[in-house]
Amino acid sequence: MTKTSPTLSAPRHVERLITGQPTTDGAGVKLTRVLTQDLQRRLDPFLMLDNFASDDPDDYGAGFPSHPHRGFETVTYMIAGRMRHKDSAGHEGLLQNGGVQWMTAGRGLVHSEMPEQEEGVMEGFQLWLNLPGKDKLCTPWYRDIQSAQIPEFTTDSHVTVRVISGESHGVTGAMHRPATDYPTNPLYLDVHFPDSGGDFVQVLPALHNAFVYVYRGEVGVVAKDDTVSAVPLHRMAILDNDGDGLHLRAAPGVTRVLVLAAQPLNEPIAQYGPFVMNTRQELMTAVEDFQNGHMG
Ligand code: MN
Repeated sequence: MTKTSPTLSAPRHVERLITGQPTTDGAGVKLTRVLTQDLQRRLDPFLMLDNFASDDPDDYGAGFPSHPHRGFETVTYMIAGRMRHKDSAGHEGLLQNGGVQWMTAGRGLVHSEMPEQEEGVMEGFQLWLNLPGKDKLCTPWYRDIQSAQIPEFTTDSHVTVRVISGESHGVTGAMHRPATDYPTNPLYLDVHFPDSGGDFVQVLPALHNAFVYVYRGEVGVVAKDDTVSAVPLHRMAILDNDGDGLHLRAAPGVTRVLVLAAQPLNEPIAQYGPFVMNTRQELMTAVEDFQNGHMG
């Protein structure tokens, strides 16, 4: 069913364009770190966004062998390819073509994320989403969401939207938890524009920190004074917090954009590698717990 687009009175401006940094992680996987540590405060509760995209097995084949996490969530969205994950609690799953793994590391687990392909394209994203201090030591939990389970709709402008989390145009995402339990209330959309181009509008609460990331083509952000800021391919645009939503415009061609927004936690952020807590003392405890085999 076609969804009617909302009308905004004051769409947000682009505050800043970010170019990702090429890096390697895991056992040598080449990727682009789009959201880096210096942006964690500005984009609270988002901690990291990695984009991996390669058709060269030398870039991804080594994967991410056993490693721990504590204190936050990892959300992996596979655009193309297959990745198998296994964790210390005995869970195992295959993440592939359009599917999502939403993992709440909580008090901690040890897992591996390994490519299950020896050739072809591997493309996707891993997002790190912070947990409030009260939930950082919760029981680890995860959900594998197959592509077909991700709600999808088309707007009256022929834009196709995949709702991974949150709500768009009255459509509730694959992951949706009551704000009372889950204060960050994250929105995660994958927006596909028609080849003819067009507009997409999303209501966003002003308090929520928000950004877009372009992974095909290029998109314009239409602000309240009708100025359009171009966001080129593989750039992240941080949106200001002044306004009632987001207005994107694509020229003809293939354009795909991730849209993310969430309510900030406004808590201290302390990170040491794969552990994200509120204080340095909690990080030291995390390292000890891991070294003593008390994580998963
Ligand atoms: Mn991991």
